[in-house]
Amino acid sequence: MTTQSSSDAQSASQSASRSDSKSDFQPDSQPDSQPNSPPASGHASALSLADAQALALRVAIPVDASETVPLRGALGRVLATDVHAPFDIPAYDNAAMDGYAFDGAELASAAPDGHVMLAVAGAAFAGRPFDGTVPAHGCIRIMTGAPMPAGCDTVIAQERVSTQADAIRFAARDVPRGANCRRAGEDLARGACALAAGRVLRTADLGLLASFGVASVAVRRRLRVAVFSTGDELREPGEPLAAGSLYDSNRPMLVAMLERLGVEPLDLGIVRDDPAALEAALRDAVAARADAVITSGGVSVGEADFTRDVMARLGDVTFASLALRPGRPLACGTLAPADGDTRPALFFGLPGNPVATAVTFHAIVRPALRAMAGARTPPPALHAALSTHALKKRAGRTEYLRGIATRDVDGTWRVAPAGSQSSASLSGLSAANCFIVLGHDAGNVDAGAPVDVLPFDGLI
Ligand code: AMP
Ligand code: MG
Repeated sequence: MTTQSSSDAQSASQSASRSDSKSDFQPDSQPDSQPNSPPASGHASALSLADAQALALRVAIPVDASETVPLRGALGRVLATDVHAPFDIPAYDNAAMDGYAFDGAELASAAPDGHVMLAVAGAAFAGRPFDGTVPAHGCIRIMTGAPMPAGCDTVIAQERVSTQADAIRFAARDVPRGANCRRAGEDLARGACALAAGRVLRTADLGLLASFGVASVAVRRRLRVAVFSTGDELREPGEPLAAGSLYDSNRPMLVAMLERLGVEPLDLGIVRDDPAALEAALRDAVAARADAVITSGGVSVGEADFTRDVMARLGDVTFASLALRPGRPLACGTLAPADGDTRPALFFGLPGNPVATAVTFHAIVRPALRAMAGARTPPPALHAALSTHALKKRAGRTEYLRGIATRDVDGTWRVAPAGSQSSASLSGLSAANCFIVLGHDAGNVDAGAPVDVLPFDGLI
């Protein structure tokens, strides 16, 4: 770790008496909360992350409409139905390497020195089968992927034979019967379920579907999710920064996160801290038939008062103080559907501090949107790594530190906190390659102790 916050240095001196030389790491050098924030995380009234995730999943009703899309463009889409192999894959026995194909029974005719001699009767190439008959004590030259000729079940690799005029000679022990031959149906038998409904299509899946000869696939319809930022202090790029203002970083980040999820974002811009403007923006999002609406900012206690009134008019939204750091305030629920529509829109009011926005998105919004999209995928896997630093952690809330995980020469994964852990510090999030996830019940972590890490790779 190259950067440490001032509080790290402070806690390093406090921990000087420890046997290890590592400093204690203070997760957040600045308090998340403003003076009028909701009760501190870990407080009895705070909602645990698991309960918040369950609350979000409860209101995330999967979409059932589907559409057929070309394979090109299906990456990341959610498969609508099971897909079965329409025929054996591979469809015919074929050579797994360049060499010579023969009937494995010939191996029994090896000379006393253990060698087999076969006459070369022809050749088979991928796309150009040998359609003759392979004579007794004969073989054919065969290339990878070429169909095995009738009566042949074994291929000897070309580098294991010596060629003599129109014959080959090789040691029988070099090739067991059946070697180097890919059997029809050995990958997938006709009718086998190759991909299950709910699968989020990956690149290899598209290759697999293409091998079935299909050019298109049925997928669930794409979610449409409206995003806007709230705050009088927020500015758009190109606008001058007046004193006390800052550029809106949450919205571009959230839009990108949604794109990563295969969701169509609907960018509704910046909404001022004004109940009428907030209500109009929410009504616009619902009228645009958004499946979900994500806002950032405006849900901390001081601001939540008017947000709460607006929400009460438009839907059924719970305001929670989360036992999660960063990411204390959260509003989650549904907005009543527009006229003529039956599905309510999901609503997530995320905290305004950018790292809190990112953490609540990944921990709460992402799984809910995945479920709503019809995806049946396991949550991203946590990995174990040894913490390079002692970490201060209060039991009774989940903490997501930003970490940099690296692999030692001896193969051990270690993780160090990445720069500033302030919930406002996007540079810390940007420098990190993983979250260090300290579970709800966990307490302080000793240097060298194992912790869970959630790699960003493909996630952020
Ligand atoms: P709030 O949740 O509205 O109380 O905002 C908490 C902090 O996050 C404040 O410092 C805001 O200025 C900041 N913030 C809120 N929204 C954004 C945004 N879209 N981009 C960057 N910072 C923001
Ligand atoms: Mg605000």
